[in-house]
Amino acid sequence: MQLTDSVRVIKGIGEKAEKSLNKLNIFRVADLLEHYPRGYDEWKPIQSICSLREGEMAAVEGSLIQRPQMKTRGRLKILSTVIQDETASMPVTWFNMPFLRNQLQMGRRYILRGKVAVRSGRITLDQPKIYTRQEFSRYVGKLRPIYPLTSGLTNHAITKAMEYALKETEDLYECLPADIRKRQDLIGYGKALKQIHFPKDKSQMLSGRRRLVFDELFFYQLALRYIKKRGRSRSVYVIKPQKEVEDFIRDLPFELTGAQQKVYQEILSDLMDGFAMNRLVQGDVGSGKTILAVLALYQTALNGWQSVFMVPTEVLANQHYRVLSEWMENRGVRVGLLSGAMTAKEKREAKEKIAKGEWDIVVGTHAVIQEDVHFCELALAITDEQHRFGVRQREILFEKGREPHVLAMSATPIPRTLALILYGDMDLSVVDMRPAMRLPIRNCVVGTAYRPNAYQFMLHQVQEGHQVYIICPMVDMSEESELENVTLYTEQLRQMYRDEVRIESLHGKMKARQKEDIMSRFSEGAIDILVSTTVIEVGIDVPNATVMMIENAERFGLAQLHQLRGRVGRGSAQSYCIFMTGRESEESTERLRVLENSNDGFYIAKEDLKLRGQGDLFGIRQSGEHIFLLADIFDDAQILIQAQEEAKKMGDREIEKLYENNSRLKSRLENYMGQVTL
Ligand code: ADP
Ligand code: MG
Repeated sequence: MQLTDSVRVIKGIGEKAEKSLNKLNIFRVADLLEHYPRGYDEWKPIQSICSLREGEMAAVEGSLIQRPQMKTRGRLKILSTVIQDETASMPVTWFNMPFLRNQLQMGRRYILRGKVAVRSGRITLDQPKIYTRQEFSRYVGKLRPIYPLTSGLTNHAITKAMEYALKETEDLYECLPADIRKRQDLIGYGKALKQIHFPKDKSQMLSGRRRLVFDELFFYQLALRYIKKRGRSRSVYVIKPQKEVEDFIRDLPFELTGAQQKVYQEILSDLMDGFAMNRLVQGDVGSGKTILAVLALYQTALNGWQSVFMVPTEVLANQHYRVLSEWMENRGVRVGLLSGAMTAKEKREAKEKIAKGEWDIVVGTHAVIQEDVHFCELALAITDEQHRFGVRQREILFEKGREPHVLAMSATPIPRTLALILYGDMDLSVVDMRPAMRLPIRNCVVGTAYRPNAYQFMLHQVQEGHQVYIICPMVDMSEESELENVTLYTEQLRQMYRDEVRIESLHGKMKARQKEDIMSRFSEGAIDILVSTTVIEVGIDVPNATVMMIENAERFGLAQLHQLRGRVGRGSAQSYCIFMTGRESEESTERLRVLENSNDGFYIAKEDLKLRGQGDLFGIRQSGEHIFLLADIFDDAQILIQAQEEAKKMGDREIEKLYENNSRLKSRLENYMGQVTL
């Protein structure tokens, strides 16, 4: 079996499973192997019932002391019984698994394993699985991977497929030169894969992870080297500051902050000095980066040239398009939108207008870097939320013009040293101040018992004319998760609030049109409460929203929570952020306290790093915030620096030789240059 083979060659993967895997962007065996666990399930020995603690995975062994009974409630089939060991007894229930009734016999001993929960005041296991002694002894003491899932796939199925792929793949050969591996004390590639998927213990997992993270960061550096050769080149687009822009700034409903003015001057001087701008603007959420982009776009249009503003999501593209159209109305500047969600006809028309130069400013998603998009005279290319794009995508955008000016914007608060490595080819500006006159967001970390109060509070806010976001972590109930389901959640909320409150939901599985419709209604104030997954995380700006409530807050990284929170506190009214934790553990509460005590992204990133440095967070977090699969630019800052040193040592010839001898490396390199995570 080869890495490039379709996943269909894996035993047990049929047409249906393949379709589901495709939804996770897994097409080839190589993709499957890079589908890393999001955490591990630690199989501890059997526990006594009286020692169970809520929230943990646990196994108990005992006899059934009640005949299994089945009840039907609505569409739910509930099977319940009682299990007893030497220390205590407890009820157990299964939903929609009627076939278990014939399997379970009163008086017999069973091993049950599941998540410990408290239901109606009693300790129990949620949907426990049933094991024989033999089965159980095979797993006990081991770490089993927990994979990101999608509908139609169980964790078990992915685990099986992974075991098979790891055993049967013949070409898991080494991409990293031996001397680098030796110097950096890294284990082999094949071994690393085995250890990250099926570690015997934590230290195996960590050494596997370290090797794979090194790969990501090292090849990223090599990719950057290819691009960096460019430097700032001469530009035909000398964009002179126009008086109209001054007027525009004066007419804004707010005054630019000192930080905005400083960065604006840096951008202006880049635009007119005869060399192509290549600048990254960094600034915390809400620091007001969009207006800087708008000013640069407007200048360019007034100078008679075209510009493009690329963003990572449909929702954000639509928002920027709306805002720009409003601002540019009556100013003689034509703004257009090109996004993947448009119909084929709309896209064709948009492309025509772009090619003919009928639009001065083009706002769009990845659609704008497709091959058949030709700009007329592209002088400025801006990317928002740059950390969501690969280096390659910024490069393709650049190649759409004759050496256009490039401006990238990012809210990831990374220290300057790291920024220089990750964006080494760019000049750096920092918007290090937030607009004044804003009240700091009030935060609270609460347990689920507080929920009724939270709902009451939201109702008050809505009655005062404000709007609310509620974030639920996932859409599909997957095997391992009992996370709140957006749809269900919305229904319950509607029942509770009756007609008093207008509630809608938003999630990643919706059609882009539908999302856009809901987002625009929310920003017009026609929706009071938006129940959403993290799709709203990036860049959304609705200043009238004053409450953000995040369910299962303990499941998110601090940086992501900070981004989510950044959706409120954007207007003049007091805003609130409620971090709801499903499970009280000291560790997760301590983490959340960091957010409770500060609204400053840089500070949070630093504290997050310290907490994680203590190493008590078991599992491998997938950053979700960057182009890397595994690497986390905070956790792995040290590896990033080492990878950069190694990359620097490599001569151009050496890299080329690596390339020539190794098609796999080549594809990896291209991968890192172009990969996006959304
Ligand atoms: P981000 O940096 O997160 O992209 P935005 O550019 O979306 O932030 O700005 C957040 C909000 O702040 C927007 O509603 C914007 O209009 C507003 N804003 C931007 N600059 C200022 C300012 N100098 N004073 C007051 N409000 C501002
Ligand atoms: Mg933004």
